[in-house]
Amino acid sequence: MYMVNVTLIPGDGVGPELAEAARRCIDSTDAEIRWEIAEAGLDVMEKTGTPLPDSTVESIRRNHIALKGPITTPVGKGYRSVNVHLRQALDLYACLRPCKTYKGVRSRYQNIDLVIIRENTEDLYAGIEFEKSKDDTAELINWLNKHSSRKIGNDAGISIKPISVRATTRIVRFAFDYARKMGRKKVTSVHKANIMKYSDGLWLEVSREVAMEYPDIQFEDRIVDNMCMQLVQKPELYDVLVLPNLYGDIVSDLCAGLVGGLGVAPGANIGEKGAVFEATHGSAPKYKGLNKVNPTALILSGVLMLRHIGRTAEADKLENAVAAVIAEGKNVTYDLKERRDDLSAVGTKEMADAIIEKLMRE
Ligand code: NAD
Repeated sequence: MYMVNVTLIPGDGVGPELAEAARRCIDSTDAEIRWEIAEAGLDVMEKTGTPLPDSTVESIRRNHIALKGPITTPVGKGYRSVNVHLRQALDLYACLRPCKTYKGVRSRYQNIDLVIIRENTEDLYAGIEFEKSKDDTAELINWLNKHSSRKIGNDAGISIKPISVRATTRIVRFAFDYARKMGRKKVTSVHKANIMKYSDGLWLEVSREVAMEYPDIQFEDRIVDNMCMQLVQKPELYDVLVLPNLYGDIVSDLCAGLVGGLGVAPGANIGEKGAVFEATHGSAPKYKGLNKVNPTALILSGVLMLRHIGRTAEADKLENAVAAVIAEGKNVTYDLKERRDDLSAVGTKEMADAIIEKLMRE
């Protein structure tokens, strides 16, 4: 097997301890990864003045694949979000979040196996915003009031929601290609086309057109509010969901909740030229350095990474080992115990050790 170069970004907060746990587990699958460590986040910012050194972006550009620990975005410190910047710099247009129930994780549901695919570049998240009472905003409001029958007051702030044919086509194709590759049966496109005819309406129309290119995969659409209710009532009816940016953000958290929460929710941001694999959760700063939080989400992100680079057998081996440790319920972190103050809970490192022991026994 040839070696694959992967950029490993430990991140900050609990990131470094989780990245170390994930790296050790991945190495124990014999997947032949050569890690290139690159820094990002608060710690490197203190040393160098920037939270995202150019060398880190260059490393991902060179290797095309990264595994990343969480990174803090301090509120109101003029510090841009490294996560958003990375997605933009590398045009990581697809956010992939599988949501699967593992036996032993406390959840109200069993047998959930959903995949959420969220468009990552446009919609209300595009960052095109006009602040209340600014000159530009007044100019925009005047223009809109001239061209629309609906009037906007001068005391409004405005956020713009662009949805384009190009971005919708590529994300819906991504969803169908993913479904085909992973042997999944159905793609559901989620929208609010009945109300936002020119943005979500376009999304739905493009979804339908793209679906015709994939006659082997079922296609259906759902209005987002109804989708939320259906997911809570009968999640087993759904398979792959594809959503515009904002609905994707909300629905992927809903689905993480269905399968037992942040500690077990992996993710990936994928583009044409690269992919960054990371847990859904953040840097949980209050647990930094305590060897306490659950490494599962980042390890399962590593499983997604292994599948992405074609190391399928190693990915399956690692996922089975994680599932076995969780199902046994012995060597797991506090959040996977029946009671959060259960003294038998182990730390991040010890849970990783238990996963590695399972891998070795295979
Ligand atoms: P968070 O996900 O870091 O933590 C919220 C709570 O969830 C924690 O206090 C903890 O109780 C629980 N939790 C999170 N991860 C866990 C794990 N692995 N095991 C067990 N419990 C876990 O959310 P937050 O406190 O809102 O955000 C902290 C920082 O992380 C913020 O600066 C935020 O911007 C950033 N963030 C980064 C990313 C990323 O790097 N992709 C994602 C989300 C948030």
